[in-house]
Order: sequence, then C-alpha cells, then structure tokens
Amino acid sequence: MKVSGKTRVCALLGDPAEHSLSPCFQNAAFQHLGLDFIYLAFTVKAEDLGDAILGIRSLRFHGLNVTMPHKISVIQYLDELDENAEKIMSVNTILNQDGKLIGYTTDGIGALNALKYNNVNPRNKKIVILGAGGASRSISFILAKEAEELVILNRTVAKAEKLASDIHRLIEGYGRIRWGELTEENIRKELQEADILINATPVGMSPNVDETPVDKRHLHPDLTVFDLVYHPLETRLLKEARMVGARTINGLNMLIHQGAASFEIWTGVKAPIDVMMKAAEEELKRRI
Ligand code: NAP
Repeated sequence: MKVSGKTRVCALLGDPAEHSLSPCFQNAAFQHLGLDFIYLAFTVKAEDLGDAILGIRSLRFHGLNVTMPHKISVIQYLDELDENAEKIMSVNTILNQDGKLIGYTTDGIGALNALKYNNVNPRNKKIVILGAGGASRSISFILAKEAEELVILNRTVAKAEKLASDIHRLIEGYGRIRWGELTEENIRKELQEADILINATPVGMSPNVDETPVDKRHLHPDLTVFDLVYHPLETRLLKEARMVGARTINGLNMLIHQGAASFEIWTGVKAPIDVMMKAAEEELKRRI
C-alpha cells in the first residue's frame, strides 16, 4: 500500500475499536481496486466523541464508521442525515462531502444484502427477529418493506412494541408487523410457519458459546437462520440449525455487507464483496 499526502483517510470510531475486523477488509478492498484510500480504527470514549468529530473535520477525514457506543450520540455533531438514518435515528457511516458531514445507516441494507448474497429473498416471507435493540431496529425498518409478515420478539416487550409502532408511523408500504415477548412459547408458535429467523441479540456470543436463544426442537429444514453474532462464526444456534437441515447465514455476512455499503458511499465504486469476505475470514483464522 502506497500512502501519500493525497491519500483519503477513512476510520472507525468505537469503544473498543482495537479488535475490529473493518480495517482488514476495508483496506483489502481499497488495495484490490487500486484506490488511494486508507482505513484506520480509533478507540474513542463517549465523552471524547465531540472533540474527535472536530478533529475529523479539521483533518479532513473522508469517511467514518461509528460503532458502539456512538451510533446515536454522534448524530448531534453531524450536518445532515440521509432519510433512513433520520427515521431509524442511528448512524454507522459518515461521508465528509466538502466539509459537510452526512450520516447514513448501512446496517439494515447490510442485512438485506447478506440475505440476498446467500440466495435468500425476504420478499413476501414471514420473518421472525429476536431482539429490539439497535441492530434489530435498523434491520426491521428495511425488512418490514420486504416481508409479508415481520414478528419482533424481545425480552423487554415494550421495546418490541415501540419498534413496531415506529415502523408503522415512519414508513409506508410495509407488510404485517407483530410483536411479542421473547418466550419459548412465542418462539415455538411463530417459527412453525416462519421462513427466516434472525438473531439480533447477543445470546450465544463468546464467551457464552453454550447459550442459544432458540431451543433446537423449534428449528426446521424450511427455515433460514441468520445469526448476527460472528464470534464464534458458527454459534450454537447456527450449528443446531445446520443439523436440522436449515440454511444458515453467519454474522460475518452482515458485517461485510454493512461495510461494503459504507465503502460504496465513500468511494462511489462497487465493493468487491468476495475480496472483503476472504480478508476477514483469513484475519479471523489468524486470531484463533
Ligand atoms: P443492543 O442495542 O444492546 O440490543 C441488544 C438486544 O438483545 C436487546 O433487544 C436486548 O433485549 C437483547 N438481549 C440482550 N441480552 C439478552 C439475553 N440474555 N436474552 C435475551 N435477549 C437479550 O445491541 P445491538 O447493537 O442491537 O446488537 C445485538 C447483537 O447483534 C450483538 O450480538 C451484536 O454483536 C450483533 N451485531 C452484529 C453485527 C454484524 O455486523 N454482524 C452488527 C450489529 C450488531 P432487552 O431490550 O430486553 O434488553
């Protein structure tokens, strides 16, 4: 990689950011296409975010990703939001357009593209999503427009209800949306006729790898099971889904596709998905 005074700088701001895979697969994509860009990652504490954004402006960084815990709080420092980010009230991507900082959210489109990349079309399907936090919110807003029916199940049922009512209020052209508590009985009932199950909770994430949000008795071969957790790559949920003959999609797919959508916002060039995926998989193998 040749870096010069003209190299455009993109970066991730998060806390923590040290273990992020984004520098690895974004730089692999820039190099593959011969783009004069570089991607770095910075750990930024919540109380330092305003100063960090001032620095980004004065140093003329070209693009940013922001991750936990800054996806909502960064909004106050931006000049403009795109339509989706404004409805969802979450930003994970920023473009510095001639000094104007514009916020986007690519999490939802990343999930949609991850499904399509794995030959799963959510149109007119019944989708059950577990969780009603930030990731579920971004994904639910996008998939509500595709699905025939979207069912949001969450431990705190009021949050699932709020998410469903925000979708009703803010977007047009969605299918049926229902919500409920994340209980075994609701999971059993809803999965019977479901086509796609998405886990947008951290259940099953390392170090709690023996946990699963869904008892394996409720999984079936007609399901696609998409787990947003990518550490481990094959969670207990995905392993049990594979064993009953369901199609499985791991969280790395979502990570790469949301990053690819950010890449396209910064560069205006189609992201080389396969190159990004391979770089991330190799980096993960190196870390084991
Ligand atoms: P978040 O905003 O903190 O929301 C967490 C959600 O999970 C909430 O709905 C919460 O329910 C639920 N939850 C937490 N612990 C639970 C438990 N023990 N049992 C049942 N439900 C539980 O987090 P997020 O940003 O949405 O992220 C959710 C997961 O997705 C994380 O594992 C994250 O790593 C993953 N993720 C992956 C990607 C990717 O690119 N692959 C991108 C974003 C997120 P309550 O409302 O009841 O607290």
